[in-house]
This record gives sequence, structure tokens and C-alpha cells, in this order.
Amino acid sequence: MDVSELFTRLEDERQLTPDLRGEIIRIFGDRGRKALKAIDEHRIKKYRDFFVVVGTSDEYIVEDEFCTCPDALYRRGSCWHVLAVRIASLTGDYEKYDLWYQDNWNAGSPADKQYLS
Ligand SMILES: [Zn+2]
Repeated sequence: MDVSELFTRLEDERQLTPDLRGEIIRIFGDRGRKALKAIDEHRIKKYRDFFVVVGTSDEYIVEDEFCTCPDALYRRGSCWHVLAVRIASLTGDYEKYDLWYQDNWNAGSPADKQYLS
């Protein structure tokens, strides 16, 4: 199974079967493992404006291939947050919030998120 086949299967099945979990780890390695762990622990949140992934020390905003984590900003690599959101958006494994995430960070949020506003 290649990457595009994997995402097609996820879209069809709309759930993480043991098969698909195995493929995700085979294709993406450690990135896949971290993404699955975050999904299993319900750390993917969908606000009205953005997807947010809760990491160990901070939470990151993900939009398509864009993420606010240091990995994505400085190494320009696709990080596991982007992968986790891509998987979760197909399977529906995310917590949905009827709120604007932007409203959250205007009040006393870390400076590193300000550039987005
Ligand atoms: Zn990231």
C-alpha cells in the first residue's frame, strides 16, 4: 500500500482498522506512531477556524500542510501533527468545538502564536 492508497482506504472505511494502523506505522514510522497515539488519546481538536493538536508541552495549529510547531517552522518537514490531522479528518476521530480558536489566543497567549493573527 502506498500513501495515496492509504488515504483512499481511510476515506472509504472511515475508521482506523488494525490493518490501516499497521500501514500508517510502516509508511510513516515514528511520525505515524505519534499521530496514532494522539488520535487514540483524543488530542485532535477541531475548532471552527482550525484543527489543533495537543502535544506534550504545547498545542499546535494545523491547517492543511501548515503547522505552528518548531519542526514544521524550522525544518520545513511535514510533522506528525499534520499527519495526525489528515488521518483524523478522514476518520472523524477528533473532538469538535463550536468555538473560534483565535478567540482563545488573543487573551494572554504565548507570543509565538501572535504572528498568525
Ligand atoms: Zn507540527
